[in-house]
Amino acid sequence: MTDERDLPAGDFSSWLRGMQAAISGDAAADVPCGGCTACCTSSQFVHIDPDEGDTLAHIPTELLFPAPGRPRGHVLLGYDERGHCPMLVDGRCSIYQHRPRTCRAYDCRIFAAVGLDVDAEDEHKEEIARQARRWRFSFPADDDRRRHAAVRAAARSVRATSVTHLAVRAVEHYDEFLP
Ligand code: SF4
Repeated sequence: MTDERDLPAGDFSSWLRGMQAAISGDAAADVPCGGCTACCTSSQFVHIDPDEGDTLAHIPTELLFPAPGRPRGHVLLGYDERGHCPMLVDGRCSIYQHRPRTCRAYDCRIFAAVGLDVDAEDEHKEEIARQARRWRFSFPADDDRRRHAAVRAAARSVRATSVTHLAVRAVEHYDEFLP
C-alpha cells in the first residue's frame, strides 16, 4: 500500500533560500527523503559536467555516455532495465558522498512549491509526482505567503521545455514577481 500521508516541507522562505542555493551549486539540497528513492528509480538520465572529477572517478566509465547536444566531456549516467540508477545499491546511493551535482540539487518539493506535477505525461515519473504531492509547506510569516505567491506567478509566466525546467526557472526568477 502506498503512503499518501502529508509530509512537512518546512517554512516556505527557508526552503526557497535553500533551493536557490542548490540550483546555483552553492549548497546541496537538504531533502528529508525518509527512505524514498523515487528520483533514483524513475528512468532519469543524470547529467554530469566535465568539472565533476570526484563524481566521475566513482562511476564506472562503461555506465557513462556522451550527453547529446552538449560539448565534449558532458556525460549522462543512464538507468537499468527497471529504470533504476545503477549506482543505487540495496536501496541506497552507493556514491552518496560523491553523487553528481544534478542529484545534489534535486528536491521534489519544488513541484509542490510551483503547484505542478512533475512531467505528469511521463509514466516513469509517477512515483516522484505522488511523493511531491505529499509535501506541505508552512507559512509562519506574511513573507512566506508573499514569496509563495510570487513563485506561483512566475510558474504561470515563464516558458520552459519541461515541468522540471519550468519549476527551476520559477524559483530562479520569482523575485521579479514579488509585489
Ligand atoms: S547517483 Fe545516487 S543520488 Fe544520483 S540518481 Fe544515482 S543513486 Fe540516486
